[in-house]
Amino acid sequence: MKLLDTFSRPLGALRISVTDRCNFRCPYCMPREVFGADYPFMDRLDILRFEEIERLVGLFVGLGVRKVRLTGGEPLLRKSLPDLVARIVRIPGVDDLALTTNGVLLPEFAQALKDAGLKRLTVSLDTLNADRFRKLSDSEIPLTRVLSGLAAARSAGFAPIKLNCVLQRGINEDEILNLATFAREGGHILRFIEFMDVGTQNGWKLDAVVPIDEVLAKITALGEIEPIEDSKTGRVAERWRYRDGSGEFGVIASVTKAFCGGCDRARLSAEGALYTCLFAGSGVNLKTALRNGSSDSDLRALIVSSWKRRDDHYSELRSSNTPPTRKVEMFHIGG
Ligand code: SAM
Ligand code: SF4
Ligand code: SF4
Repeated sequence: MKLLDTFSRPLGALRISVTDRCNFRCPYCMPREVFGADYPFMDRLDILRFEEIERLVGLFVGLGVRKVRLTGGEPLLRKSLPDLVARIVRIPGVDDLALTTNGVLLPEFAQALKDAGLKRLTVSLDTLNADRFRKLSDSEIPLTRVLSGLAAARSAGFAPIKLNCVLQRGINEDEILNLATFAREGGHILRFIEFMDVGTQNGWKLDAVVPIDEVLAKITALGEIEPIEDSKTGRVAERWRYRDGSGEFGVIASVTKAFCGGCDRARLSAEGALYTCLFAGSGVNLKTALRNGSSDSDLRALIVSSWKRRDDHYSELRSSNTPPTRKVEMFHIGG
C-alpha cells in the first residue's frame, strides 16, 4: 500500500545532504558573518557514513522513493563522493540519481561521477559577470572555475545539464536574458528560482523576490515560448520551451505560486535527520537508531510514522502570511 501523508501526498523523492561544509559563502544561504572561520561545522564522525546512507536509501525506496538527489553544502567536498553515487545507483528501484553542485570541483570529478553512474547534474549559476560572481559567492574562486566545471561535465557526457539561477531584485535580475541565452546556446536547461526565505539567517525580504511571471514576460524578448505539460503529473508552468525548438527552460515559483500540494520530497541531513519540508523546524533522528543497531523494520517504522504525520505546507502558509518561524538552515538539509 502506498505511503501517504496527511494531505494524501506520496513519498517519491529523497534529497540527501552529504556535508554541511561549502567552499562558497553565498549570502542567501551561508552568510559569512554567521558561517565564519570559527563556525562549528559537524564533526566527521557525526556525519552519516556511505554504508549508512546506502542502507537508508534502500529503506526509502521500499517506501516509494524513486528519485534521489545528492546535495549539501557543497557535495563535491565530501571525500570519495563517486563511491556513494556507485552505491546508490545499484539499489534496485532508484530510477533517477542527480547531484546539485556549485560546479567548482567538477573539473576534477565530472568524469568519475559519470563513470560511477550519476544520471543527472545541476550546476548553480546566478551570474555571468565575474565581479558580481565574487560577491554572490563571497569567495576568491573565479567564475571561470565554474565555467570550466560545466565544460568538464559536458565532456564527461552529462547532457543536458540543468543550471539553477536564484534571482534577487536589484542583484542579478538584469541578467535574465543573458543567462537564458547562455543556456540555450550551450544546450543547458536553465531554471529560474525565486529567492526563498530558507533558514533564518539570509535576511530575506519579499521585495527581493523576482516573481516568475516577470521572468516569463522578459524572456519573450528571445522569442515565443510555451509551457510543456509534465506527462507524469499533468502539471504545467514549471517547464517551458522556445516555440522555435531551440531549447527549454524551467521556473520554480516557490514563493509566488506555492506548489506544496504536489510535494513528495523527504530530506535527509548530513547528520542523519529526516525532514519532511525544506522549511521544517525539526527532523527525526535516524542516525541514533542506525547506530544503536536498530533493525530495518524499526528504521522503516520511524520513516513511516514521520511521513504519515507530515502536514507541512510552508510555502502555502507563507502566501497566507502565517509562516512558522523556527526553520532549519538550507545548507543543513540541502536545497
Ligand atoms: N552547493 C550546491 C549548490 O550551490 O548548487 C548545493 C547546495 S545549494 C543549498 C542547492 C541550491 O539551493 C542551489 O542551487 C542554491 O542556489 C539554492 N539556494 C540556496 N539558498 C537559496 C535561497 N535562499 N533561495 C532559493 N534558492 C536557494
Ligand atoms: Fe554553498 Fe550552495 Fe549554499 Fe552557495 S548555495 S553557500 S554554494 S551550499
Ligand atoms: Fe514541499 Fe515544504 Fe516546499 Fe511546500 S514548503 S513545497 S511542503 S518543501
